[in-house]
Amino acid sequence: MTYEPKDETLELLRSLSEAFGVAGFEDEVRALIQERIEPYVDELRTDAMGNLIAYRRGRGDRVLMLDAHMDEIGFMVSYIEENGFLRFAPLGGWDARIIPSHAMTIRTQSGQLVKGAVGTPPPHILKPEERDKPFPLEELFVDIGASSREEVEQRGIRIGSPAVIAYPFERLNEGVVMGKALDDRVGCAVLIETLKALKGEELEVTLAANFAACEEVGLRGARTAAFQIEPDIALALEGTVAADVPGVHAVRQPTALGKGPAITVADRSLIPNPKLVDFLLELAEEEGVPCQLKVPPFGSTDAGAIQQTGKGAIAGVVSVPCRYIHSPFSLMRLEDFANTVKLTVAFARRCRELF
Ligand SMILES: [Zn+2]
Repeated sequence: MTYEPKDETLELLRSLSEAFGVAGFEDEVRALIQERIEPYVDELRTDAMGNLIAYRRGRGDRVLMLDAHMDEIGFMVSYIEENGFLRFAPLGGWDARIIPSHAMTIRTQSGQLVKGAVGTPPPHILKPEERDKPFPLEELFVDIGASSREEVEQRGIRIGSPAVIAYPFERLNEGVVMGKALDDRVGCAVLIETLKALKGEELEVTLAANFAACEEVGLRGARTAAFQIEPDIALALEGTVAADVPGVHAVRQPTALGKGPAITVADRSLIPNPKLVDFLLELAEEEGVPCQLKVPPFGSTDAGAIQQTGKGAIAGVVSVPCRYIHSPFSLMRLEDFANTVKLTVAFARRCRELF
């Protein structure tokens, strides 16, 4: 039987995906999450970094930290030309070849969204040697239709205004959705649904949910959050690289769509305790949740920062496979999402067994 998501789950994914939340500017995402989780937690605060930290008190003194990052990769206005064109700097790991010819949304000082185009010279006027080369990032510009620097400034844009390539969230067919920022709004959605599913239950551990800021620019939020939470055990919930597409050899396909949550055995930021990996695999089997091991060592995650902060923690990563992350949109299977929630809920209930 095909998995049919609840309307409210789809709506959650849609609003999280479409929210504006470039690294360092996560306020819209944070407000949205805060409103959704308030009924399910005992305590909630935003720290100086911008992390949203929520506690759900349990029995005993062990602390489980579940982390999902709110920020998405984006841009920042770096210069405004006399004639009204904008230059921009990347925030997070972009592939410069895929930025041209998209629409860009810039957020003004007052929170308004201004649309523009990442313009490119038409092929007609390119020299033959220019046609085969990607445009260097520093030569790209955004055209918002303004004709002077003053006009740009009057619209509320200045150096430092954040921007993103924005696509609407869409359901491609019964099982597959596409939208921007699934890395890591899908992790935020897993964490929200986990808190919901645990409503009213007393856990063996205190659960600290961290919706992290600034992951995409160096795992910054998770580090200060872990320092405050002092977890014994932690999972980063991610939307991770799926590369099950034509032309990619299996050894370079970290995960594939439809095979369930991906469990990390090593990435560039951490090597999880093998006991934790085994525990997750056993748990998945007992719960009847399909799962896959993520092919190492691609990517880095908040778990790497959490593992090394303060006294350290047993840390691992569970991810929803998403194709095309770190591009203007990504694509995932709803069933993988649902199975990741199931595994995370089971982990929260039983992680005390690890000690
Ligand atoms: Zn991520």
